[in-house]
Amino acid sequence: SDFYIGLDIGGTKCAVVLGDRNFKIYEKVFFETKVSRGPALIIDEFKGHVHKLVDKYGREKLVKIGISCGGPLDSKKGLIKSPPNLPGWDAIPIVDILEKEFRVDVAIQNDANACALAEWMMGAGVGTENMVFLTFGTGMGAGLILNGKIYSGTNDLGGEVGHLRLADDGPVGFGKAGSFEGFCSGGGIAKLAKTTVEHKLKNEIAVGFCPTVEGIDALTAKSVFTAAHKGDATALEIVRISAYYLGRALAILIDTLNPECIVIGSIYARNEALLRPLVYEVLEKEAIPEALGVCRILPAKLGDKIGDYAALGVAMQ
Ligand code: BGC
Repeated sequence: SDFYIGLDIGGTKCAVVLGDRNFKIYEKVFFETKVSRGPALIIDEFKGHVHKLVDKYGREKLVKIGISCGGPLDSKKGLIKSPPNLPGWDAIPIVDILEKEFRVDVAIQNDANACALAEWMMGAGVGTENMVFLTFGTGMGAGLILNGKIYSGTNDLGGEVGHLRLADDGPVGFGKAGSFEGFCSGGGIAKLAKTTVEHKLKNEIAVGFCPTVEGIDALTAKSVFTAAHKGDATALEIVRISAYYLGRALAILIDTLNPECIVIGSIYARNEALLRPLVYEVLEKEAIPEALGVCRILPAKLGDKIGDYAALGVAMQ
């Protein structure tokens, strides 16, 4: 039967999925992005996987390819502009490249928008009219469903909330120190961990999960959360900073959009028990009480499948 292919281009991981129009997934291939290779090699790797899959399932049965990718991008022109988490990518005509290679229609959508649609149709946001989705993965982006429709803005920049500056200084995200993406993303938390731990070690304060300066470069958001769950004081300090700014940003979104729910992916979904109370402490002080009262803050429900559904959803639009 006919099938669709979804490509998920992330700052850390990439995936190629093959599925049908009922979102039944038949194949999934993963690879590490390794961004330092640059766009040409990464696109070649995608091409190789897609060729293998269409050979196996029948070229003539491929209906369309959908791409879910971090922005800024231009969905009409099919360009990946210059995403902060894909350094070296600049105005890459990905849609053109793949249409020529596979002689089939290709569509691209911002990953946060694509994930928002997936959670809205099949996950935590089912039945809502006004929903915000936040990625909270390697980067931070928002997908906005307003009045029952995706809202992507005048030129696809709606929901680029990672760029919002929340403090005068802080970890750099989206090229900006103290931005929402700086405080609340995998990349940002790793940077925050490096500076915090370095400062402690220099002042001879012991850090359980990173006892020596040599270990600093290997710090990741994951190592911070693992240590925080075990009660490590420094890790908890880092988590509290991130949660504080997540709360601030959520209050801005709640006050601006008055949504029924805000669904948050990856890092939040995996660490909800730790983050939720910290975030609510801030929200109760910062957000309009009546707007907060009607807004549920929910972890994404689709788990590891979210990126697959998101990319396939773009192919089916
Ligand atoms: C990008 C967004 C994207 C987010 C998650 C941000 O750096 O600007 O467009 O949604 O990362 O990948």
